[in-house]
Amino acid sequence: MRKLLTFSLVAALLFAGWRLLSPFAPPLPGYRGLSATAELPSWQEARLTMQRWADDVKNRLMGIDYDQTRTNVVDGLKNGVDRVKEAIDDPEQVKQQLTQRLNKIVDNVEAVNDQLLIQGRDPRELLAKHFGGRHLPRPSDAETSSRTQKTPAGIQVLAGDNGVPDSIVRQAAETVQTLSLPIVQAKLGQAPSNQAVVVLYSTKNAYRKALTGAGVDADLITPIVENTNGICIGTDVWLPLYSLQDKSSLANVLTHELTHVVFNEQGLGTKLPTWVNEGVAWDAGMTAMKKVNPAMARRMASSLNSQLGRAAKEGRILPLAASEEDILRADYNVEWQDYQAVDDLIKKYGEDRLRAFLTGARRSGVAASFQAQYGMSITRFEREFAAAL
Ligand SMILES: [Zn+2]
Repeated sequence: MRKLLTFSLVAALLFAGWRLLSPFAPPLPGYRGLSATAELPSWQEARLTMQRWADDVKNRLMGIDYDQTRTNVVDGLKNGVDRVKEAIDDPEQVKQQLTQRLNKIVDNVEAVNDQLLIQGRDPRELLAKHFGGRHLPRPSDAETSSRTQKTPAGIQVLAGDNGVPDSIVRQAAETVQTLSLPIVQAKLGQAPSNQAVVVLYSTKNAYRKALTGAGVDADLITPIVENTNGICIGTDVWLPLYSLQDKSSLANVLTHELTHVVFNEQGLGTKLPTWVNEGVAWDAGMTAMKKVNPAMARRMASSLNSQLGRAAKEGRILPLAASEEDILRADYNVEWQDYQAVDDLIKKYGEDRLRAFLTGARRSGVAASFQAQYGMSITRFEREFAAAL
């Protein structure tokens, strides 16, 4: 179909060009035609004639008795003819339009990047204070909560509201089983248990309503709805779908939040420094994203890297051990910095050493385990990492 469309379009353009350029071309019936330029008293009239001619070609093309399935071809030709007509009428304007269109595309890409930059700030600590060891409430609507998918490992994925299609619930459950679980298992030596529950929300309104219903502080709700990709309390994960770009973003946030679930189940959730907790979750999430859409993961990484680079150049970098209040006020994605620190450890000492540090942290505490695995104190690593940025 595309070949046919391209061929027809090229044919139409060639025909238009030939009609314009050939001095011997017979005029279309009803017009004097451009071949007889001497007959036209002014450029204005030439342009008018051209316009009428182009309209006529368009009408003829539109009049061709294509059946319904060929509407695309007709539309394609119509657009092609319009382009030719506009280019003849005002080449400068067409150039401008194309530039505008290109700028709009660039703007859209940047808007997507900006969105990714703001998001990913995890209100985990603030919410943990609010909920303590409790669970996030399950959807109360019987119809939506009946559309639950259970993965073979026993993790439940639920629709949080009516707007979440069954296909997304299925896709999320499949992503958890085939991507998130093996990645988290490989990185932490443990996967989330069958207590884990993931609830999906389709819109800001639905998410806002659920957060309100859960009793979250009113002044926390807007930042959560606008700036976060998911929340995790204990073994419960809530994911808003409206901020996701594609399947790879879904894989990223599911794997990220399920990493937090494992840390919570291991009793490490509140013991690990935020940068380790978030950095490891980002590492797992990005691993999942790369598997689904490597190009998207690269774009996101380069965008966040340049944002971090700018902040470093301008001396706006926070220490890895910054307070929650400082992190919330930061004007760059602090969690990306956390991820870079974890990535630095992985690149220098390997994945096995990181897993050994996390396993050891459960027995002997974070500081002792870090010292044992990396041969330096965690505060020295934090200081040296910040200095190298
Ligand atoms: Zn997180």
